[in-house]
Amino acid sequence: MLNFTVGPVMCGDEVRAVGGEQVPYFRTSEFSKVMFENEKLMLKFAKAPEGSKVAFMTNSSTGSMEAVVMNCFTESDKVLVIDGGSFGHRFVELCEIHEVPHVVLKLNHGQKLTKERLYEYNGQSFTGLLVNIDETSTGVLYDSEMIGEFCRRNNIFYVCDCVSAFLADPFDMAHCGAAAMITGSQKVLACPPGISIIILAPRAVERVTSRKVKSMYFNLADVLKNMERGQTPFTPAVGILRQINTRLKEIEAMGGANVEIARVATQAKDFRKKIRDLPFEFVSESPANGVTSVHPLNADAYRVFEILKDEYGIWICPNGGNMKSTVFRVGHIGYLSPEDNTTLINALKDMQKRGMI
Ligand SMILES: *Cc1c(COP(=O)(O)O)cnc(C)c1O
Repeated sequence: MLNFTVGPVMCGDEVRAVGGEQVPYFRTSEFSKVMFENEKLMLKFAKAPEGSKVAFMTNSSTGSMEAVVMNCFTESDKVLVIDGGSFGHRFVELCEIHEVPHVVLKLNHGQKLTKERLYEYNGQSFTGLLVNIDETSTGVLYDSEMIGEFCRRNNIFYVCDCVSAFLADPFDMAHCGAAAMITGSQKVLACPPGISIIILAPRAVERVTSRKVKSMYFNLADVLKNMERGQTPFTPAVGILRQINTRLKEIEAMGGANVEIARVATQAKDFRKKIRDLPFEFVSESPANGVTSVHPLNADAYRVFEILKDEYGIWICPNGGNMKSTVFRVGHIGYLSPEDNTTLINALKDMQKRGMI
């Protein structure tokens, strides 16, 4: 199998070996040590400000998006949501479900967020902003620093969904001033799905510990309290947390976050160069490193996905909704190399020879 989706992605051998081990009991000092190591490296790689805390959540990242909305906002907030694709729209739906007053800044698929567009909302007493730094459905990267500056000026509680951007695109949590960031195990961390991670800056720690949330499982104050001893309130995905530990230490040994980000960037650049001669168009105005969104000019995008899967054993990532037949995505995260890109391009060239694209 060769997997170019955006998660779950290809795992490295060491991470896979840990997945094959027995899962240990977790209310132990040994497991707490694993959790503290994970916390330390997550804070370091996200460049989190002093005093930040980490919540390891046993749920997919949508659960963490929901936890952040529930714990950080109430009906007395006014939140600006950047909606440029299906993940942005998920934040809109979460605000609706939890009755958080919000205004939607809608962008077309592939469109970048300009400063001019964002500053239309300047000085309008917003209290929060929700954005997916890489809107993975279209592969658009938003400028976390430019948005951070807007939030600083307006004293806005800034939430970054970095689920696919963490370790793929440069992100400096302290510098851009994000109050909370979210990521997940199955994207650039290249582990199985099941764990999502929320980093809370001191401002967010203060907020979640001083407010009441109507939830047992998504009570972030409770999660942080348990994390003081390297534990979680309930049984976590112990095996995946151990795999994350292996992976984080591997990244650290290779030189840290910037080295991994550069690796993903190289993988993306290589793909975008190699695909140039094929009858495709790029979708994103400001492409993120983690994924390339591609519009086939002469073929149905979902058909391209099916043929690659069924006839070549290669997985690219189909799109859903109204992009299903027009856009497919190719991921650059996980254990992929430039040679893997060549394998994919050769398959596409073969399809072209067969008159399929
Ligand atoms: C993958 C992803 C998510 C979370 O998806 P889950 O299926 O809940 O893990 C959220 N936001 C972005 C930007 C993503 O890429």
